[in-house]
Amino acid sequence: MPSRAMIGLGSNLGDRRATLDGAVAALAASPDIDVVRVSGFIETEPVGGPPGQGPYLNAALEVKTTLDPLGLLRVLQEIEGRFGRVRAVRWGERTLDLDLLLFDDLVVDSPELTVPHSRMTGRRFVLEPLAEIAPTTVIPDTGRTVAEWLVVLTDQR
Ligand code: ATP
Ligand code: CA
Ligand code: CA
Repeated sequence: MPSRAMIGLGSNLGDRRATLDGAVAALAASPDIDVVRVSGFIETEPVGGPPGQGPYLNAALEVKTTLDPLGLLRVLQEIEGRFGRVRAVRWGERTLDLDLLLFDDLVVDSPELTVPHSRMTGRRFVLEPLAEIAPTTVIPDTGRTVAEWLVVLTDQR
């Protein structure tokens, strides 16, 4: 049985739309990955990191995969590299960021990989596109769905 995983995409450098389209195509072309659903692209202001960064384009993606979580993370990192991602300043600007948000109902806590992504429930730029494609998905260990977490964020404002 393949697993279902949700991936967050972001870009705030270069041709952001072309990069996100290219990343989706690269995932779809990956032998062990099927792209099931792609959210719309939304523009968001950068959160954290050094000042002066341009706005992000963010999206979320549902895939089916026969890879394990770490195997999927490696593919995501390889695709980031193909799009010229350079790891420099934390939360600095980047051509492409691919985060593994959810992987079935697994909880993973290793030095290299934390799933569910540890900051996802506090991020509108993650939850908004994710709620578009997977509102009823429960975020493991939290007892709340994606849509419910988005309401929590909205109520805090
Ligand atoms: P944030 O994690 O706050 O979204 P970021 O995406 O800018 O920040 P990166 O520099 O892309 O952070 O990644 C730093 C490290 O995070 C990676 O080397 C990776 O091993 C680790 N990591 C842990 N959990 C995850 C996950 N769920 N998805 C992607 N990377 C993860
Ligand atoms: Ca990220
Ligand atoms: Ca990342």
